[in-house]
Amino acid sequence: MPIIKQSRRELLGWGAAAMAGGTIGWSTVSAKPPSRLGTTIVLRNARLFDGENTTLREGLQVFVRDAKILAVEPAAVAPPANAAVIDCRRQMLMPGLIDAHYHTMFAALPPELRRSATLDTLALYGAQDMEAALMRGYTTLRDVGSASFGLKDAIDRGGIAGPRIFPSGLALSQTGGHGEMREPSEVPGYGNDLPEISNYKSVIADGADAVRRRVREQLLMGASQIKVMAGGGIISPRDPLDSLQYSTDEIKAAVDTAADWGTYVTVHAYTPQSIERSIRAGVKCVEHGQLADENAAKMMRDHGIWWSIQPFVPLGKTELTDPRQIQKLESVVQGTDTAYHLAKRFGIRVGYGTDYAFNPEGAARQSTRLAALGRWYDPVAALRIATGENAALLALSARRNPYPDGALGVIKPGAYADLLVVDFAAAQSLERFLEPETTLRLIMKDGRIFKNALDA
Ligand SMILES: [Zn+2]
Repeated sequence: MPIIKQSRRELLGWGAAAMAGGTIGWSTVSAKPPSRLGTTIVLRNARLFDGENTTLREGLQVFVRDAKILAVEPAAVAPPANAAVIDCRRQMLMPGLIDAHYHTMFAALPPELRRSATLDTLALYGAQDMEAALMRGYTTLRDVGSASFGLKDAIDRGGIAGPRIFPSGLALSQTGGHGEMREPSEVPGYGNDLPEISNYKSVIADGADAVRRRVREQLLMGASQIKVMAGGGIISPRDPLDSLQYSTDEIKAAVDTAADWGTYVTVHAYTPQSIERSIRAGVKCVEHGQLADENAAKMMRDHGIWWSIQPFVPLGKTELTDPRQIQKLESVVQGTDTAYHLAKRFGIRVGYGTDYAFNPEGAARQSTRLAALGRWYDPVAALRIATGENAALLALSARRNPYPDGALGVIKPGAYADLLVVDFAAAQSLERFLEPETTLRLIMKDGRIFKNALDA
């Protein structure tokens, strides 16, 4: 899947034409397109999806100044003098997409590097994928496990192009849990003594004191939320899906420590037992949850828990090779339909996330899962989950929100100007998001234009 290429020359000035095509290679998108401080950009003649209402509105124009949306005005209102006007050609103007379950450092890491990758390997592949993610229309990602603080910082500074990142740092896993990537020969007593970190993805901690310490380390690094592995997972071959991971006390230790810093814990959990224990311990969000039953769903509703479901659907093939992983994947895929029905029936707020790991082809087609969301929601309702609703989920970071100066995922005055102009056909068929080179006409993040094919 080629990455959109765009030379710096083409990005000079407003409304510069973008050039599509090219081959996979190192960054060619300008990391920080020019921002003309004080100049107003006007986006007009669009069908507006604002991230909150599922009706598209016409006859409006959006004024952007610096990093923010200044106003949404009727088309008749005259723009300020010297404004840069962009004609959206009756296509859909919408907030940038948000992925609430991503692993920025290794979503697109080639699987053969999984064991050998050092932090710089991860950073280089991660940076390349961040640029590609922005060109896929994702302007914000919640990283639920990887050492992405340096990557986030480089993006925020404009050193490389990419989405905003809400980092969790390393996910906490108990010994033998979902973050357990050690080979049998590496387990103490069966070979060498072991590092406590697996692939810069998870960190092992057993016991409430150790959990508190590991949470504090992630917060020290700048985590906006904490991720805890509370039950079995798919890519870790040796922990059964039904295994309960972490005692209530251990999860509560993470929750209390995160709360002391004004933020929350989200848990990896598939089974009802794991979900219920986590809620009793005070977590605010459940990742996955495909094996949930009615009681677990009721408990989520009663406690106002967010449900970050990944629309895993049968794809015919998988990148997994270990039969233990494949068996676990199959039972989770089977549960996805039930999960969405339970979420709808009990009125549980749902997040959209993709969760690619060591899967360059999958990550390059990140919106495959956005399209899959169309099995349970109308296209625009699915887009609302991937914008305004996901932003509300990310706002749980409260005092640790790395982007506190404006709203995300919505088009309204004061929100960050993270915007897309998308072919109107995508409002009927989410599959169109799988061809971002042609479907995405304009990509703006932080008021800066990273792609503009509208004037071409
Ligand atoms: Zn994950």
